[in-house]
Amino acid sequence: MSSLLLIYTGGTIGMMEEPTTGSLIPFDFKQLQDNVPELKRFNCHIDVVSFDEPIDSSDVNLMHWQKIADMITVNYDHYDGFVVLHGTDTMAYSASAISFMLENLSKPVIFTGSQLPIGKLRTDGKENLITSIEIAVASDDNGPIVQEVCIYFESQLFRGNRTHKYNTENFDAFESANFPALAEVGIHIFYNHDQLLRPNGPFTIRKNFDTNVTYLKMFPGITLQWSMAFCRYPV
Ligand code: ASP
Repeated sequence: MSSLLLIYTGGTIGMMEEPTTGSLIPFDFKQLQDNVPELKRFNCHIDVVSFDEPIDSSDVNLMHWQKIADMITVNYDHYDGFVVLHGTDTMAYSASAISFMLENLSKPVIFTGSQLPIGKLRTDGKENLITSIEIAVASDDNGPIVQEVCIYFESQLFRGNRTHKYNTENFDAFESANFPALAEVGIHIFYNHDQLLRPNGPFTIRKNFDTNVTYLKMFPGITLQWSMAFCRYPV
């Protein structure tokens, strides 16, 4: 039986409707199997760890990334795959950061979330969660099919560091503009095997960030004054 670690960081997916009042309350992911009974049908052992205080992803910072990376690293040998539940607003930033922090992964780390809370009737959260788990434990004769950090959302699997959120209204919220999808999900899951990343060295974790690094977007008409002001802004 394969095993999976589900890491809950916060975001819309983790909410459900309080049956009497209809107000949204945090979903108890520790009782995941009770609340998402479909998961019992997986031939897979699922453990859940959660941030002590789940966050709205607009509050994410470097310490949260280090925490996620630690949760994966400490448990790396014990699980076949990892699913990270995360708010959609900064999911692409976090997936990108984690992809550079965890070098030469040989197991899948799949970020997902949802546009509607998992406790809402029309939620996209259940499908996103269930398919992410399926992808995170999928293997063939060569081992895990996916061996990198990805975002799964609304039928598509994308490379984490190539993805951005482009839509706040549709279920189809993410795209990977300059790189093809790594899997398309319909009745079957079709993996884009030619594009899947493979490790080329030992698994390494990099936890240090240099917060002095930023980027200046070039645009037609940019002036020297603009660039100088950007670089020399007094703190
Ligand atoms: N504000 C939420 C977050 O990013 C939105 C979401 O989860 O979709 O945490």
